[in-house]
Amino acid sequence: MSSQWNTNMGRREALKLAAGVGLACAVPIVGHATSTASYDVIVVGAGTAGLTAARDLLAAGYRVRVLEASNRHGGRVYSRTLGSTRIEMGAEEHYLARNNPIYNAIIGELGPGAYARAYVGDTALSMDGGKLCYEETGYCESDADIRDNWNYWRSYGSRSLNQDYSLTMADTVLARYGVGKGHRAYHLYDSYIAGSIYGASLDRIGAASLAQQDALWSLSSQVQVLTPHDIGYVDVLNRIWWNELLPHVSLDRPVTHVDTSGPHIVVEDATGDKHHAHKVIVTASIGVLQSESITFTPTLPEPTVEAYRNIGMGRGMKVALRFREQFWASKMAYLVTEGLACSCWIPSAYKKGTDDKLVMCYPMGDNAQILTDRAAAAGGGTAGDKVIVDEMLADLDTIYGGKPSAGFIDALVQNWTADPYVRGSYSYPAVNTYAPNLPSKRKQLAQPVNDQIFFAGEGTSNNNPACVPGALHEGKRAAREVHASLGGVSNPPAMVS
Ligand SMILES: Cc1cc2nc3c(=O)[nH]c(=O)nc-3n(C[C@H](O)[C@H](O)[C@H](O)COP(=O)(O)OP(=O)(O)OC[C@H]3O[C@@H](n4cnc5c(N)ncnc54)[C@H](O)[C@@H]3O)c2cc1C
Repeated sequence: MSSQWNTNMGRREALKLAAGVGLACAVPIVGHATSTASYDVIVVGAGTAGLTAARDLLAAGYRVRVLEASNRHGGRVYSRTLGSTRIEMGAEEHYLARNNPIYNAIIGELGPGAYARAYVGDTALSMDGGKLCYEETGYCESDADIRDNWNYWRSYGSRSLNQDYSLTMADTVLARYGVGKGHRAYHLYDSYIAGSIYGASLDRIGAASLAQQDALWSLSSQVQVLTPHDIGYVDVLNRIWWNELLPHVSLDRPVTHVDTSGPHIVVEDATGDKHHAHKVIVTASIGVLQSESITFTPTLPEPTVEAYRNIGMGRGMKVALRFREQFWASKMAYLVTEGLACSCWIPSAYKKGTDDKLVMCYPMGDNAQILTDRAAAAGGGTAGDKVIVDEMLADLDTIYGGKPSAGFIDALVQNWTADPYVRGSYSYPAVNTYAPNLPSKRKQLAQPVNDQIFFAGEGTSNNNPACVPGALHEGKRAAREVHASLGGVSNPPAMVS
C-alpha cells in the first residue's frame, strides 16, 4: 500500500482535491454526437459498491468517473416520502456490528437515538383465509403446521441437516413436513422465510447452499432501523459520504459495452459516448449481468459467466401504503399474509414524530412475478402501480374485513424486478452458488478479469451478500485491487488518449 492510500489528509479534503484533478485531467474530444474522455478508473454503477470504490480511489488521488444508468445515485438504497415520512423503498434494515462501518458512521452523524430495534412486537400469521394467529400471544402452538414451521426456522441454517447440494428449500420442506404448493402453510415457508429474508421463492433457493452462506455471515443479526421521520437511508449516506462524490458521477449513462482488446479500456454508454480508462469496476446487479445487457470484447471468460449465471437473483418489490386509521392491532409488528402482499410491517411504529399510519408490504419471489406480469398487462407505469396497490389492499381486506380499502389514502410502489438497471431484488444462494470444498460462485465472480475488469457489489460478497454493508465491503475490495494493480497513485501509468 502506498502512503497516499493511507493518506493523512482528511477524506473530505482529499476528495475535493481529487475532484479538481479528475475534472482537469479528463480530455473531452467532442465529435458530432459523441465524446471521449480519459480516466484512471471507470466505475459502472452509482450504488453503494460503486460509490464506495470511487470514494476510496478518489481519496487516493486517482482520476475516476462513475457512470450511472438511471437518473439518480444510490441504487437499491432509495428513500422516498409518503405523507410526511421518509420511508425506504430499498434497503431498510441496518445490522448492529462493530465491523459494519455504515452503522458506526450513522451513529457518528446522527447519534445513537437515530436507531431503534426493528419489528418490536408480535408476528401475526394469516391462516385459512385471513384468520390471524399471533406467534407470541395467540397460541399458535396449537397448530401443528405452525409448529413445524417454527422447527424449520431453527433448522434451515444447519449445515449438518442440509448436506445435499442438489435440493432446494422447497424439496426439504416437502420431504420433512409434507408441505408443498397449495398446502395451507406453504406461505409460512415461501413468503415468510424465503421471501422476507432472501427475496426469493422457496423452490429456487438451494438448501445446502443457503446453510453454507449463512454460516459465513459476519454481521450481527440484530436488526435496527432509522427512527427520524424526516431522514431516510439515502439522506444520511448523502450527508456522510455520497454528496461530495456527485461531481464524479454521470447520471443517465447506461453502459452498453466494455472493450478491453486495445491498449486501454473503452467503456461505451447508451448515448454513444466512449470513456477511456486503465481499469473498470462493474457494480451492476447479478440480474443485470444475467441479462447480458452489458457486452464485453473480448467476451468474458467462462468462469466469470458461469459464476453470475449460478448466483440466484430474487424478484421483488416494496409497496408502502398510507391509511387514515390504524386497522391493525398495536401489538403487531409483522404480518405474514396468504396472498400477494406476502409480508408487511409498520414503519410508523418506529418513525418518531409522524402521525402517518404506514404499512410496508414486501411481495417477493413468485408473488412479485405475478404482480409484475399483472402490472405489465395493465400497461405498466401508474396503471401498473394501481394494479399492484389494489392487490395489496385486497389481500389486507381479506384479513381486516375491508377496513384497509375503506381507509386507504395513497401508496408508493417500487418494483425492483421491473427496473431495467436492477432486474430483481437481491442475490440469493441458488442450488449451484455454493459447493463443498470449492470457492463459491460469488468469489469466482469477484476474480479480476485479465487485471482489467473488477466485479463488485452485494452479489460478489461471500460473507454478507444481499445487503448494503456487503456491497460497501466489495466496493472497498475492488478499489484495493485496482490500486494494487495500478501500482500506486505516486506513479500512475500514463494515460493513452
Ligand atoms: C426490496 C429490497 C430490500 C432490501 N433490504 C435491505 C435491507 O433491509 N438491508 C440491507 O442492508 N440491504 C437490503 N437490500 C439490499 C441492498 O439494497 C443491496 O444489497 C445494496 O444496495 C446493493 O448495492 P450494490 O452497489 O451492489 O448494487 P446497486 O445498489 O444495485 O447499485 C448498482 C448500480 O448500477 C447501476 N447500473 C446497472 N446497470 C448499469 C449499466 N449498464 N450502466 C451503468 N450503471 C448501471 C444501477 O442503476 C445501480 O445504481 C434490499 C434490497 C432490495 C431491492
